[in-house]
Amino acid sequence: MTSSAHCSATVAAGAAARSRPRPPVWLFDLDNTLHNASHAAFGMIDRSMNDYIATTLSVDAAQADHLRRHYWERYGATLLGLMQHHGVKAPHFLHQTHLLPGLEARLRAHPQDLDALARLPGPKFIVTNAPRAYAQRVLQALGMARWFNGVIAIEDMHMFGRLRPKPDARMLRRLVVQLRVPAGRCVLVEDTLAHQKSARRVGMGTVWMQRWLRRSSHGPEVGVRLRRRPVYVCDRIRGLQALSGSAAARRARRTSP
Ligand SMILES: [Mg+2]
Repeated sequence: MTSSAHCSATVAAGAAARSRPRPPVWLFDLDNTLHNASHAAFGMIDRSMNDYIATTLSVDAAQADHLRRHYWERYGATLLGLMQHHGVKAPHFLHQTHLLPGLEARLRAHPQDLDALARLPGPKFIVTNAPRAYAQRVLQALGMARWFNGVIAIEDMHMFGRLRPKPDARMLRRLVVQLRVPAGRCVLVEDTLAHQKSARRVGMGTVWMQRWLRRSSHGPEVGVRLRRRPVYVCDRIRGLQALSGSAAARRARRTSP
């Protein structure tokens, strides 16, 4: 059974057993949403990708760093640029760049977020542009794995012969079909605004998690005004304890079936 098929079965069975109003189906980003990826993980991944690019494309360190950033800014994922322009194979890249020895000891999450996740009603899924093995490793190390019904990782985001990670709206539409719930019952919790914009367009609720952004020097949110709330963001929060009472959660509970 694929992870997506597993997700469908889990939500469908759960939905049948619950009485209304039903809780939201929570879709959580991983890095800089559930843990402080800027503390160490992003730096480790960046260095690992630079080494991979330098070795694979036979370029120097500065060129490798430039290409990593350039493809990430242009395509939303360094991997997509490497696949398109250099014939890099996704499984090889994802494996080699996420070996990350010693990662577990350097992961940081907030105890209040862990407590809030443990108490939060509703099915929970990770939706990450990172590889599955990395996501599972992070969840295990932080003690979160048992609270999630499934992990939708970048390997699950193939459509029409191409990888279509967040913020691809087609991938998000397919995801809600696979989960067998209306988009309006789903709430995406994310640090990345571009992903929320796309999620809102397909009808999901959106929560902008900001706890780790202040310390972030990585990602598209660098330089964004954290006190502003774009129209496609339902809630702006600094801790996961705010999720259960959020506008996005109320909206999702009103959505039937
Ligand atoms: Mg993120």
